[in-house]
Amino acid sequence: MTLMSPDSVTPTRVNLLNFDLDGLADFCEHLGEKRFRAVQLFRWIHQRGDPGACQFDQMSDLAKSLRGKLQTTAVVSPLPVVSQHISTDGTIKWLFDVGDANAIETVFIPELGRGTLCVSSQAGCAMGCRFCATGHHGFSRNLSTGEIIAQLWFAEGFLRQHSQSHGHSDDRSDRVVTNVVLMGMGEPLQNYDALLPALRVMTCDHGYGLSRRRVTVSTSGIVPMMDRLAQDCPVALAVSLHAPNDVLRDQLVPLNLKYSLHDLLSACLRYLAHAPRDFITFAYCLLDGVNDGDEHARQLIQLMQTVRTHSRAGVGCKFNLIPFNPFPNSGLRPSSPGRTQSFARILNAAGITTTVRKTRGGDIDAACGQLAGDIRDRTRVQQRMERLHRPRFLHQESAT
Ligand code: SF4
Repeated sequence: MTLMSPDSVTPTRVNLLNFDLDGLADFCEHLGEKRFRAVQLFRWIHQRGDPGACQFDQMSDLAKSLRGKLQTTAVVSPLPVVSQHISTDGTIKWLFDVGDANAIETVFIPELGRGTLCVSSQAGCAMGCRFCATGHHGFSRNLSTGEIIAQLWFAEGFLRQHSQSHGHSDDRSDRVVTNVVLMGMGEPLQNYDALLPALRVMTCDHGYGLSRRRVTVSTSGIVPMMDRLAQDCPVALAVSLHAPNDVLRDQLVPLNLKYSLHDLLSACLRYLAHAPRDFITFAYCLLDGVNDGDEHARQLIQLMQTVRTHSRAGVGCKFNLIPFNPFPNSGLRPSSPGRTQSFARILNAAGITTTVRKTRGGDIDAACGQLAGDIRDRTRVQQRMERLHRPRFLHQESAT
C-alpha cells in the first residue's frame, strides 16, 4: 500500500484509518520503528470498540517512543456525523460529512443473532441504474479507504457503547457488526484501489476479523474488476441483475451496454471458483409491468442454467427479490405483493433459492435503493438520466 497517498494525509498528519496492516507496518518503518509494532497499533485502532481508545497516549502496550512519534505524525480521523435516524424497526441510518458539500449514508440493520452494516464506497454513483435513488443524484467522487473504514469504525464503537448487552471490551466476540455489505452509495468495484485495503482491514484477524463469507461486495457487473477481486480478496459477491435479457438490462443497468449478460455470467462463473460460498447472490428489483412478469422469471431460469450446472455444488446462484422503493420522478412503481410472490414461486419451483427482501428502515429512507446522501454531482448524471428515461420507459415491452 502506498504510504502516503494524498487522501491519507491531513495537512499535518496521516490518517491511520487509510492503512491495512501492511500499510501500517510501512508507516511504522517510516517512523523508524519495527514493522511488528503495527499489529499492536492496528488492534488498538480497530478492536477496542471505543473511540477513546484511539488516543495514542492511552495505548499502554506501545513503546513510549512510538507513542510520541504518533502524536505528532498521525491521527485516527472519524467522519463527522451530520445526522442519525433510528427506525421503529431498530434500523439506524447515519449521514456522514465527507467534505466539499458531500455527505454519504451508512445503515445498520439489526437482526436476531446478527448485525449488518451497509457501507458506502463512493459519494454518489455514476452508474445510473434506473431504479436507484443514489444513481439519480449523480456522482461526486470516490471515498478513500479511511472514509470507507471510518463508517465501520464509527458504527462498531457507537453500537458497543449504546448496546446494553455489549459493554466496553477488546474481546472480538463482542462485535456488534457481524456482517458488512458494500451495498450503500456507489459502485464498489469502480473504487477498487480504496476498496481492496478496506476489505483487508475488515477481514484481518487483527482488524475486524470478519470472515470472507460475512463481507459482501455488491456490483452492477464491472467484469474486469470482478476477476481482480477473485484473485486479490474473494469475499462474498452480490450481483445487481434486475433483468433477464440484454434489451431490458440495457435500460435498467446502463453498464450492460458495456458488459453484456453473457460477459457478466461468465465472470460470475470464474468468480465462483474462488468465492467463499458456492453461490452468488443476484439482486433483482421488481418493477411493476417492467421486469416482473412470469415470462421474465422463466427467462431467468434459463439464464441461470449455465451458472448452476458449472458451479461446484450445483447451486451457483440465489435470488434476492427487492421491493422497489419509489422516489420522486422515478416513473416506476413497485410490483404488487401478489406479483412478487408469484415471481418468487416460479424461481423456487425451478430449484433456485429465492427470498424476498424485507424492507427495513423504510420510515427513515434507509431501505434498499433509497440512499441518496447529499451529493454535489460533478458528472451531470442526473440530467442525463432525466433525458434518457422519460416516461416512455414505463410498461415498455421487454424482448424475450
Ligand atoms: S444500484 Fe448501485 S451501481 Fe446502480 S446506481 Fe445505485 S448505487 Fe450505483
